[in-house]
Amino acid sequence: GATIGILGGGQLGRMLSVAAARLGFVSHIYEPGATPPAGHVADRVTTASYDDAEALKAFAEAVDVITYEFENIPTEALDILEVHRPIRPGREALRVSQDRLNEKAFLQGLGLNTAPFADITDLDSLKAAIDQIGTPAILKTRRFGYDGKGQARLRSPDDAETALADMAGAPAILEGFVDFSHEVSIIAARGLDGQVACFDPGENVHRDGILHTTSVPARLPAAKRTDAILLAANILNALDYVGVMGVELFVTPQGLIVNEIAPRVHNSGHWTQNGCAVDQFEQHIRAVAGWPLGDGQRHSDVVMENLIGDDMDRVPELATERDVALHLYGKAEVKAGRKMGHFNRITR
Ligand code: ATP
Ligand code: MG
Ligand code: MG
Repeated sequence: GATIGILGGGQLGRMLSVAAARLGFVSHIYEPGATPPAGHVADRVTTASYDDAEALKAFAEAVDVITYEFENIPTEALDILEVHRPIRPGREALRVSQDRLNEKAFLQGLGLNTAPFADITDLDSLKAAIDQIGTPAILKTRRFGYDGKGQARLRSPDDAETALADMAGAPAILEGFVDFSHEVSIIAARGLDGQVACFDPGENVHRDGILHTTSVPARLPAAKRTDAILLAANILNALDYVGVMGVELFVTPQGLIVNEIAPRVHNSGHWTQNGCAVDQFEQHIRAVAGWPLGDGQRHSDVVMENLIGDDMDRVPELATERDVALHLYGKAEVKAGRKMGHFNRITR
């Protein structure tokens, strides 16, 4: 079969490799780290950094299509790769999602609602932004933030100096605090032919800035469920997107507000592994390989829970439970805050 090149060998790359294998593809991981979780399951692994031009070229020539498990791929690496093979999802999705300022501007350009925001370069621009947006607010680094890292909350204007110090000189944006009732996300896919399929929205609960659980069905009235699907399709079409995307939303009485988008399979879509005939990983591989999409219909109610750090101690007990499907990432070292695995509990 054809070879799917995957940039990044973490748990997402691992689960993409499994899905690729199940459809008869060869998977080839590119990863700088020495012992990536995807290393045990992928057919081939290139261990090299993203500034190794020779290794990038050789990787691209060895695969048929290039996809990725994370959005922070250096631009210079993409410049080299795209000469040789198609990169799916495409560069525009990466440009938009790598930088929170681009992302917010893009979303507002589509007429979607986001938190109020302002570009922050120094204390003066932060003070001006606080005057305009008010507090509470959140200062976030424009790039490289994940799991709530690179964020500082401002309860009052007095917090400006300490919040800015937390950014350690990195470019940042200030976001007004959204008074949401709950958070949901929608995992959407778009094929090479432009067909769009969405999974059922999931309801997300975070703990210490990290996703804790995703439950389906989400508490969402029919009209908002439709809104979520339409706005996700709007985003994918605007980007001429190919692959799976995660769209994080805040639910408010005024409607849905887009928090952020991730141009890849998403932690909040892991429930699909045991809730749908075709899960988000297979859907992504289908899309980037130019196959027709699965329909993504949900057949069960599911609660996905992440196993973080010492949560791994729960595995022996969980392994005895009915209706629990374990998904462990094979990471050798347990660290606080590290995602070690997750499980899906079928609740109906
Ligand atoms: P991820 O791991 O999802 O990529 P991240 O580090 O990019 O996380 P965000 O998704 O921007 O961070 O924020 C993490 C969480 O913080 C959100 O899911 C939400 O609970 C809360 N949050 C972020 N921005 C706001 C906001 N403007 N108003 C209220 N809560 C917010
Ligand atoms: Mg994020
Ligand atoms: Mg997020």
